[in-house]
Amino acid sequence: MIRVGLGRDIHRLVPGRRFLAGGVAIPAESGEAGHSDADVLIHAIIDALLGAAGIGDCGEFFPSNDPDYLDADSKMLLGIAWNRIQESGWNLVNLDCVITCEEPKILPYREAIRESLATLLGVDTSAIFVKGKTNEGCDSTGAGTAVEALALCLLENHEH
Ligand SMILES: [Zn+2]
Repeated sequence: MIRVGLGRDIHRLVPGRRFLAGGVAIPAESGEAGHSDADVLIHAIIDALLGAAGIGDCGEFFPSNDPDYLDADSKMLLGIAWNRIQESGWNLVNLDCVITCEEPKILPYREAIRESLATLLGVDTSAIFVKGKTNEGCDSTGAGTAVEALALCLLENHEH
């Protein structure tokens, strides 16, 4: 069986926070605000993977009002979710992602992000792609006050 999963997340950008994307800290004037470390791309990926497996979503697994997840490392959250999904027999075929923000530019960090995610998910870098986009001045992402991420994954399961 193969199944697709879709995930989306958005975080406000504020001064004094790190800008994290897929576990990579990118130098920037502002970073994501949030309860955890607020890695917007990893949160979208967790939702895509959990959705494809049909076992929940990021907010159910890691509630934003749970003190356990205050400043939580999103790489660790992804690890917990991915272990649960793999225990159900799922493998990742590929993962494709879009990060939308005005600043910073994602392209110079694209390979680092792909490698970070490939390591976290235990797959080859070729199975993961990441694109950076701007929002052409539209909405909060275009105004530079938010960053949005979309993730689409394909999982396969030979047990079903
Ligand atoms: Zn989030």
